[in-house]
Amino acid sequence: MDDRPFIYDWSKEELAQILQHWGEPSYRAGQLWQGLYRSLWSRADQFTVFPKSLRQKLNEHFVFESLSVVNESFADQGMTHKVLFHTPEGNPVETVLMRSDDGRITLCISSQSGCGMGCVFCATGHMGFLANLTAGQIVEQVLYFARLLKQENKTLSNIVVMGMGEPFHNFAQTLQAIDRLNDPSGFRFGERRFTISTVGIAPMIRKFTALKRQINLAISLHAADDELRSQLVPINRKYPLEVLLEACREYVEQTHRRISFEWVLIHQVNDSREQAYRLARLLKGLLCHVNLIPLNPTPGYRRRAPPQETIEEFKAVLQSHRIPCTVRAPRGLSIWAGCGQLAALQQERGLGGYARMSLV
Ligand code: SAH
Ligand code: SF4
Repeated sequence: MDDRPFIYDWSKEELAQILQHWGEPSYRAGQLWQGLYRSLWSRADQFTVFPKSLRQKLNEHFVFESLSVVNESFADQGMTHKVLFHTPEGNPVETVLMRSDDGRITLCISSQSGCGMGCVFCATGHMGFLANLTAGQIVEQVLYFARLLKQENKTLSNIVVMGMGEPFHNFAQTLQAIDRLNDPSGFRFGERRFTISTVGIAPMIRKFTALKRQINLAISLHAADDELRSQLVPINRKYPLEVLLEACREYVEQTHRRISFEWVLIHQVNDSREQAYRLARLLKGLLCHVNLIPLNPTPGYRRRAPPQETIEEFKAVLQSHRIPCTVRAPRGLSIWAGCGQLAALQQERGLGGYARMSLV
């Protein structure tokens, strides 16, 4: 394995120090950063603003690619595009680009390969935890798609950390990646256009609150009583609803930002009117929004999404309590690119059906 460091794992300051150490004039640091994050160059030889000797030196000291593309697939008339990458160690990482009819383009990125949280309905959870991604690897998922979009003169509208993994279990690297992409002299992607989704690691929600960042926060709730939530989301045994909701209330009070709650609707599990009423009671008075996600099928979980009228009833109960709520339209199901369907490992082993995926 190549032991040169990955250039996107280094901060602007660290890269500037290296160039200074090499005896380069100070303006080279700005040129390097702009080349990486604004021109979106992905090879040392593209830095034609540098003398050849410096390009060679960059090449000797750094690699410009850490994730390699293994599979690429499209669904929804090309509006959904999923890429399966491998880390140098061979761990799978999936990233999904979703275009909307209104022209908005959302990228769903991964913070880990696999996930150790074991939510029963989630294919990534069934894979188990494989590895934390580095800040550079999180950045690289974004730059890969940003380069593609640049060819169409388009840019991303939003980035959601809702792919594989629990971002609050790899928080330092996730935040570093966001900071790097947010830098005004580089990629300039505003904090408000990022969303971090968590399964509900209460102490990390508190830590995040204290940072007073403008990044959006989504909490995966799925059940309004501890007994059911612990069955669906095992981490609830450690951070039960009372503790979780307290951290959420603190977040809203201190940041004055609206919080999103995700609720995967599973037929005859958490789609009853009673759960909807309980949820409304739980969220009473909280500045929030509920995203209802009809369950996407995954190989290891035999349940289904509720019928349309049950979804509408659930939604109506929330609305009658003046809780804003939307139902998320399924995306990318034919290529296993929907929420909770990212399970590259099983698919590679032939359990989840790569059949419809085109090999690059
Ligand atoms: N680990 C984080 C972020 C990644 S999961 C979290 O749990 O929030 C992103 C979202 O996909 C979560 O809301 C999760 O509950 C949802 N999800 C998982 N499995 C799903 C499935 N089978 N169908 C629909 N959504 C699912
Ligand atoms: Fe992990 Fe989120 Fe899937 Fe739960 S839903 S297993 S936390 S990726």
